[in-house]
Amino acid sequence: MLDFAPLGAVAQLGERRVRNAKVGSSILLRSTKTPERTETGPRGPFPFPAFPAKEPALTDARPPEHEAALQAAADLIGQADALVVAAGAGMGIDSGLPDFRGREGFWRAYPALRASGLDFHEIASPQAFRDTPGLAWGFYGHRLALYRRTRPHAGFALLRHWGSLMQQGCVVFTSNVDGQFQQAGFDADRVHECHGSIHHLQCLQPCCDDIWEAGAFVPEVDEQHCRLLNAPPTCPRCGGLARPNILMFGDDGWLERRSAAQWAQLQRQLSQARRPLVIELGAGTAIPSVRHFSHAAVHQLGGRLVRINPDEPAVPTTRDVGLAMGASQALAGIARVLGPQWAAAGT
Ligand SMILES: [Zn+2]
Repeated sequence: MLDFAPLGAVAQLGERRVRNAKVGSSILLRSTKTPERTETGPRGPFPFPAFPAKEPALTDARPPEHEAALQAAADLIGQADALVVAAGAGMGIDSGLPDFRGREGFWRAYPALRASGLDFHEIASPQAFRDTPGLAWGFYGHRLALYRRTRPHAGFALLRHWGSLMQQGCVVFTSNVDGQFQQAGFDADRVHECHGSIHHLQCLQPCCDDIWEAGAFVPEVDEQHCRLLNAPPTCPRCGGLARPNILMFGDDGWLERRSAAQWAQLQRQLSQARRPLVIELGAGTAIPSVRHFSHAAVHQLGGRLVRINPDEPAVPTTRDVGLAMGASQALAGIARVLGPQWAAAGT
């Protein structure tokens, strides 16, 4: 059993007491950023108490496109009995999803918010839903529609297939709220969304603990002005405004029940693994929630790590593999080395 708390219990803005979903107690936290999709800002408290707060010294990554590194990654897949996929924002970029890193990058994706002078941290907040609900739902409504119509890149199918060939199957830990793993056919019962999901809603207040699927809400958005044109979703209990069930910036109202239940389930599933392999994709160090999970899984379960990250591929030990590549390219390269025995139909 992995001995650490779900991220949702700690990734909060400011200093305040939050519920610890695992032990049901209160813990005092000091954190300065709330992650959602882009992960910038100082490092918050380490969410997994059993693992050292300081990351281990990292070795140099293997040469980016080196065949030996791809072969080493393929060898690790071959010896594993469970696949643990740990994904950050970089995983979605190859599917064509916008990269929110940096203020300019964000405004390129949402030029109407540049005109309003609102950056990602400001619009991705409960306060934005209170102050400018049409704009906040314009932003999230656009993203909801975008994620619904986005086809996950081929790397998702490769991961799913490799996991299906392992005795203990595959689990997913993701900081992404886009639902792309479920969209790619992953078993929803084996996905943990540590920052929640845009495909689920909750009351903005919140007046109750209800979390419900967003399927009935079809946003119509004026993209030029980032404004929701139709009626926003409302809470079935109080009739007030609803919001995505996502951990936002400055968020004291996120309902973490769903995410916490996913976490408990993932822990049970991982307890069966004897030789887990973590494949980490597109997860940065700025707010390293996914990286901490990867390291804890390796450290506590005796697994190995393949880290795929074009900018920060260094890995903790020489037995692990770092690939300085994008997710889609690296997974295709590994698939090539693995050969036809591991090939998935249609990939
Ligand atoms: Zn309500």
